[in-house]
Amino acid sequence: MKDIKSFNEEELKTEMKSIGEPAFRAGQIFSWLHEKKVNSFEEMTNLSKDLRNKLSENYEITALSEVRSLKSTDGTVKFLYKLKDGQVIESVLMSYKHGYSICVSSQVGCRMGCMFCASTIDGLVRNLTPSEILEQVYEAERSCNVSISNIVIMGSGEPMDNYDNVVKFIRLISDEKGKNLSVRNITLSTCGLVPGIRRLAEEGLPVTLALSLHAPEDELRKTIMPVAKAFSVKEILEACDYFFEKTSRRVTFEYSMIDGVNDSAERAEQLAQLIKGKNCHVNLIPVNKIKERNFVKSGDNNVAKFKNILEKYRINVTIRRSMGTDIDAACGQLRRSFMEESN
Ligand code: SAH
Repeated sequence: MKDIKSFNEEELKTEMKSIGEPAFRAGQIFSWLHEKKVNSFEEMTNLSKDLRNKLSENYEITALSEVRSLKSTDGTVKFLYKLKDGQVIESVLMSYKHGYSICVSSQVGCRMGCMFCASTIDGLVRNLTPSEILEQVYEAERSCNVSISNIVIMGSGEPMDNYDNVVKFIRLISDEKGKNLSVRNITLSTCGLVPGIRRLAEEGLPVTLALSLHAPEDELRKTIMPVAKAFSVKEILEACDYFFEKTSRRVTFEYSMIDGVNDSAERAEQLAQLIKGKNCHVNLIPVNKIKERNFVKSGDNNVAKFKNILEKYRINVTIRRSMGTDIDAACGQLRRSFMEESN
């Protein structure tokens, strides 16, 4: 069975040809799947019964089944979804003044090994398909009856390690015949896979690139992010400059602050020297506690001091507002606690 929701309209035309149908059916089906977001062929009422039967014999429509959802007092909703093969993934819907934003996962698990992250503890299980990433958005919209305007690809997984499917997802969700979400409202977060950053710069997709830096130099970075052994901070920053050159999109540097590890005034100075003068933005994130590791988040004073130092160099800095902390909203935690219960 082919995954019909992962096809763009052009590919659907080829599919229609292969089953002896006229090309214009592709547009109708695309609109049912991505604009009206139906999850069965029966609902595609402008198609004949015969065609609907033919479709259901050859294609499947990816759907997620909700295992659990948790609502935070701040309006954040965390979803745990089961995939067709029994794997579970999580997504987080956040409500802001300017609208709804969703954090989606791009892989089941992750193989990047960042020390402070819960998603990576059991390694990578598999990549998500474009339709499985899409459905996280569609299903949240259906179940909460909202329209999502912003997407952050910051859930479990490393998007650059599932490059083709993630880019396909971005093209599908922004397709004007589908959900038509602005590419500018999508943020892709990466731990710094340099070839992926350079490739993305060439796609003609003005997404916001968020770079998980977390340390201003290689030696420290290697102790918390194994990926730092493969790519140096220098190479990463050059790739980010290239991304900015190509897209004119300001890059965000994410810096998770871990008490006594990367949060000293010296580290702030080092970071400032590294990025001052760049058209960028720094997001400071007091690290979320995960029970498998001993990292402690930096105290408010340290975070404020760190921020002041960066601001002295005229760098744009925000402190990430922590949302949904009462519902295990830190990366991968809900999935892990669910799996532990099921074992
Ligand atoms: N793999 C991608 C995207 C997923 S992680 C990346 O590395 O960017 C999204 C962000 O959350 C990254 O900046 C990641 O470093 C950060 N993160 C992971 N676990 C965290 C934790 N326990 N506390 C704070 N930030 C965390």
